[in-house]
Amino acid sequence: MKYFETDQIKYINNELFIENVSLKKLANEYGTPLYVYSRNHFIKQFIDFSNAFKNIRHKIFYAMKANYNLNVINTFIRLGAGVDVNSEGELFRALKAGANPNKIILTGVGKTKNEITVGLKKKLLMIKAESEEELELINKIAFDLKLIAPVALRINPNVDAQTHPYISTGLLENKFGIDTDDALSLYRRKNYYSNIEFIGIDMHIGSQITSVEPFVESVQKMIELYNQLKKEGITIKHLDVGGGIGVKYKDENVSSISDFAEALLPLFQKLDCEIFFEPGRFLTANGGILLTEVLYTKQNNNKNFIIVDAAMNDLLRPTLYQAYHHIQPVIMKNNEIIKADVVGPVCETGDYFAKNRDINKVESGDILAIMSVGAYGMVMSSNYNGRRRPPEIIVDGDQIYLTRSRESFEHLLWDEKVI
Ligand SMILES: *Cc1c(COP(=O)(O)O)cnc(C)c1O
Repeated sequence: MKYFETDQIKYINNELFIENVSLKKLANEYGTPLYVYSRNHFIKQFIDFSNAFKNIRHKIFYAMKANYNLNVINTFIRLGAGVDVNSEGELFRALKAGANPNKIILTGVGKTKNEITVGLKKKLLMIKAESEEELELINKIAFDLKLIAPVALRINPNVDAQTHPYISTGLLENKFGIDTDDALSLYRRKNYYSNIEFIGIDMHIGSQITSVEPFVESVQKMIELYNQLKKEGITIKHLDVGGGIGVKYKDENVSSISDFAEALLPLFQKLDCEIFFEPGRFLTANGGILLTEVLYTKQNNNKNFIIVDAAMNDLLRPTLYQAYHHIQPVIMKNNEIIKADVVGPVCETGDYFAKNRDINKVESGDILAIMSVGAYGMVMSSNYNGRRRPPEIIVDGDQIYLTRSRESFEHLLWDEKVI
């Protein structure tokens, strides 16, 4: 694949633009490494998703763990989205971004007592339970607070999402959720849980799911459970099918959101409950770029290395999942392609962005765009090697918003001092 372009990220006269803004100009002005996002890509993805399911009663909860920049969250809130949060820290950010607590879902396989307490006190829309023990604890905390906890059990449908093992969550061998039969028994004990109202059934089988089959199969299992509960007089208000819809990272085959809708709508239309979705990656992945400057090029025994100023601490996905991110120069100076490893300055062999990649020949000082980093990019960054996290910019048409500046070394110290 030669170029990776999207609706909002395109070459014009061999220069890469995000919306109406030159990426070269942004790199010059703000330095590198630098995260840049397209607000209109986020908006388009949200609208495409929502339109695909417009014929059913549904709500979209942005899974903010994909990209929790306040302005990214806020972009989706303004479009009417709720938020799916995974921890107290994410809840804090969601509220700062302007989310209404009654449009927030609290997720997580290991919620602490404190997180559950905060979630209940803030009157979140729904709290998921992923084990019998957790359900007991939610009930007890709600009892102590004299509240009724709105709960959905996260079921584990035991379906292979056919994605990378680290982002597959719907098999019984994974830590997530409750076996469907066990969930049925728990719902049946609803009278025992004095301070719980079972309002939903939930699932999330994995991320970067590129074919509809595993999704459909899992939803069918949820619906069986839903119908069984209904027969027994246990009414469920929401079916939460999670996130996981995949996106293109190169030229692979990826089912579109309308393919998913076409397969799922007939199933949903038979139900009289609302459908919840929790997309993360689908909404943000292809709206983000990480700009990095080429520091050096060299050959070791005929192997080419391109050493850039971004590193695994800025973008972990290649190291963690061997994930593919397309890399291309922001100025296409020539068409000469070489095979090279693109690597960062961190002292780890795993610190790379591409291995044996066909890539345009570049030289020191050139700027490269690492594509599709809008999801699970900045949120996984760290300060390893004493490196400061990059700034984040949101572009909207001609407008450039610096939404978070580069960290300072002082900031990295926090309150640490020599004692
Ligand atoms: C991570 C996660 C999501 C979002 O997954 P994507 O693949 O980014 O869409 C949704 N729901 C839950 C429970 C998650 O853990």
